[in-house]
Amino acid sequence: MTKICPACGAEAFDGDLECSFCGSKIIPVSLSFQQREDVSQLIQDLNQLMIKEKKRLLRQTDLVSIAVWFFGIVLILIAGMLLDSNNIHLGLLTFSAMVLLIWRSYRRKCLVNGLIRFFRKETEPQIREITDRLMLPCWQFDQMAARELKEDDLLRKFMFFRSLPRK
Ligand SMILES: [Zn+2]
Repeated sequence: MTKICPACGAEAFDGDLECSFCGSKIIPVSLSFQQREDVSQLIQDLNQLMIKEKKRLLRQTDLVSIAVWFFGIVLILIAGMLLDSNNIHLGLLTFSAMVLLIWRSYRRKCLVNGLIRFFRKETEPQIREITDRLMLPCWQFDQMAARELKEDDLLRKFMFFRSLPRK
């Protein structure tokens, strides 16, 4: 009889401890109560860390957008005064609408890029540290995270990036 490697899905023979295809452990590592608690705590902490970073990124892009909008308005007002233009209201409105449009896509782009960077730089090394220390296969950590977190929790959404090739 054969079984399936939880890491890569290749077939493995009964009695194999490691997958001959990807090298991952096939049998879950048994953890002590304290080790299990440590992993759960880390998963919760990392998720909170990512939520904090998300808020920081949004705040940062909003501040930049407000600054751009504000200086633009000031410039238009000055130009309006210098040129003695009657179209200043139209100029202010058009400019504000433009900033609003750009702000929405800029915000989304900064958030996604920023969170990916944060995940690779801050989150992933901590996951690797604990899986290395407890000799935990990645798929077992993923299973624990899936149990620990809700489906829409930020960390869970980013977990799959680990299997993507790194630049
Ligand atoms: Zn495998």
